[in-house]
Amino acid sequence: METRTEGDMTAPSDAAAVVRPPAVPEPEEPRAAVAPASLSPSRAGDFMQCPLLYRFRVIDKLPEKPSEAATRGTLVHAVLERLFDAPAGERTAPRAKSLIPAQWERLRTSRPEVVELFADDPDGERLARWLSEAERLVERWFTLEDPTRLEPAERELFVEAELDSGLRLRGIIDRVDVAPTGEVRIVDYKTGKAPRPEYADGALFQMKFYALVVWRLKKVVPRRLQLVYLGSGDVLTYDPVLADLERVERKLLALWEAIRQATESGDWRPRPTKLCGWCDHQAHCPEFGGTPPPYPLPVRAAESGGGAQGRMGPD
Ligand code: SF4
Repeated sequence: METRTEGDMTAPSDAAAVVRPPAVPEPEEPRAAVAPASLSPSRAGDFMQCPLLYRFRVIDKLPEKPSEAATRGTLVHAVLERLFDAPAGERTAPRAKSLIPAQWERLRTSRPEVVELFADDPDGERLARWLSEAERLVERWFTLEDPTRLEPAERELFVEAELDSGLRLRGIIDRVDVAPTGEVRIVDYKTGKAPRPEYADGALFQMKFYALVVWRLKKVVPRRLQLVYLGSGDVLTYDPVLADLERVERKLLALWEAIRQATESGDWRPRPTKLCGWCDHQAHCPEFGGTPPPYPLPVRAAESGGGAQGRMGPD
């Protein structure tokens, strides 16, 4: 990407096919099991990690406990989004930190289950530590980007696009910057640490997914994909070309075909890895002596080949 200041990314976009949800999402109603109809980066990542985990989340919709880390991530994202409501000159670290209590209150109202996180913390010590860690992450952002010189075209942008095959891709982009030249930068905040270089492709998969959706919606290949890691203070960038997006599209079509076969056959295979330690569903997982709940969808005989379950990497 050629040299230019962050402040050059100011022009509004023509986001005709997008809707902007509130910073803290509304609570979801319980829904009956239905076959998957669209793919997001998170759910694509679930299937690549473990097809059975995908089933538990997307088809069975098994409940999961909120985690401190994920909830803090939601809180920090809400604060960074809301900060841009202020005039550019007032987007300071103290102003950002002052938004934390109100955003935490909103989160507790919209997702009452997060209150459980601190149910065993009567004196509020753990909550205070958790909130100060959120402050630290917010402060670190100011060492990585300068919001007084940014005027995002979009924040927390819900995007959805349909491929020629009929596959619908959807997701929420943290921030979209558009330069006066029309060049688009897609930005995602991560409250964790940057991956080691050998795992960068996995981290960029989500960003290429979003780039593909933007390309499909606007016929523009984003100029830059930018991951901002608040946990470690790193920024990872990638400038995609059309061939990258075509490759991701082929990858997603193959992934979707594997998901379709598993949905119809009911054959969702566990794929144990060290990430099982973070899985909420061990009690239902055969790898841990558990039994999945009855499959809630109609089943057809499995197609030959058994799909690509458990063998799909991000790129
Ligand atoms: S415990 Fe591991 S193998 Fe079992 S569903 Fe969860 S991620 Fe998959």
